[in-house]
Amino acid sequence: MDNAATSFPKAPGVGQAMAHYIEKMGVNVGRGTYEQASEAGLVVLETRQQLKTLFHFPGKVKHVIFTPGATYSLNQILRGYLKPGDHVVVSSLEHNAVMRPLTDLQALGVTFSRIPADREGRTKAEDLLPLLRENTRLVLVNHASNVSGTIFPLEEVARICRERGIPLAVDGAQTAGYLPIDFEKLGLSALSVPGHKGLLGPQGIGAMLLAPEFAKAMEPVTTGGTGSASDSEIQPGYLPDRFESGTMNLPGIFGLHAALDYVLTQGVESGRAHIKQCTRQFLQGVQDLPLRVAGPADPELQVGVVSLDFEGLDNAEVSFALEQQFGIQTRCGLHCAPNAHKTLQTFPQGTVRFSFGHETTPEEVAYALEGIRAILKGR
Ligand code: PMP
Repeated sequence: MDNAATSFPKAPGVGQAMAHYIEKMGVNVGRGTYEQASEAGLVVLETRQQLKTLFHFPGKVKHVIFTPGATYSLNQILRGYLKPGDHVVVSSLEHNAVMRPLTDLQALGVTFSRIPADREGRTKAEDLLPLLRENTRLVLVNHASNVSGTIFPLEEVARICRERGIPLAVDGAQTAGYLPIDFEKLGLSALSVPGHKGLLGPQGIGAMLLAPEFAKAMEPVTTGGTGSASDSEIQPGYLPDRFESGTMNLPGIFGLHAALDYVLTQGVESGRAHIKQCTRQFLQGVQDLPLRVAGPADPELQVGVVSLDFEGLDNAEVSFALEQQFGIQTRCGLHCAPNAHKTLQTFPQGTVRFSFGHETTPEEVAYALEGIRAILKGR
């Protein structure tokens, strides 16, 4: 029950696709022009197209950029776009993949404000308004908290940003593949997604989808060989090459391609319905127990992530006992998001996080509840 860290199992066919690339292909793309390289190039192109389809991305496939993951995408967006004197607004529930680059950027004269949230992690979109300044150049928000699962009011915030012409970037780490994300309808400037969570692909591959004007305003954080314009020592200005230096993670892309095939065939809505049901069952099961759900405790308002604070007990010991006595894998602690825990009032003790996946069964949820009850009984 640690799918928020990385989903398991991966989509059917992911391992096979990766093995096929490693055992049967092993070529590079964008360099040699032999047939197998073109074949691999086609898979890369198709994977960009799959991401474009999944997220209703109105731009060209060249604006779908592969990265090593969400952390890299978010660093590229923040460090590549912001300049000294810029102000950014973020949510109160950001992951350190956002907060650490932003804290680094403070030293260069970038400032930030956080939209407040309540003790359940709920944000009111209008609370963004008083934070906006003349120099606010970006709003970047976490679509759903990796601690409490709370879903951010993205549509309303996107409307505010659109009306004021402020670029909006989204950290979709906990929602890509789990909730529908419509890049076009929201009018986003950038979306960052990891391949290994709700997209059910492998680690080490992710993407960022960039609106053309936003991409133009961004400097690459990493430069190097692109297999293109090799007559020049200057980084190419065109996409995707500008942001894709170095040999690509082809085993990762082959795996992601198979995963996206599955996600697109199944449909995000059916996965959402399944995980919502697991979340509902779990929340009902804990409602009368002596513990606090640090979050909305409502499956409509959260993704399949539930944080529990076993008040009066040591959360780390509970998580350990769940594993040792019942084989239930959870993640305890502060989940790389200290300010989210401060907002949820679970700092510094942290929480025990349960997160459900596309193959979590009602029996497994019932078993986890049994484990929790047994531990509480023995306290
Ligand atoms: N943002 C959020 C909300 C996350 O949950 C995570 C992963 N825990 C990240 C960013 C970073 O993703 P990755 O570790 O895959 O780069």
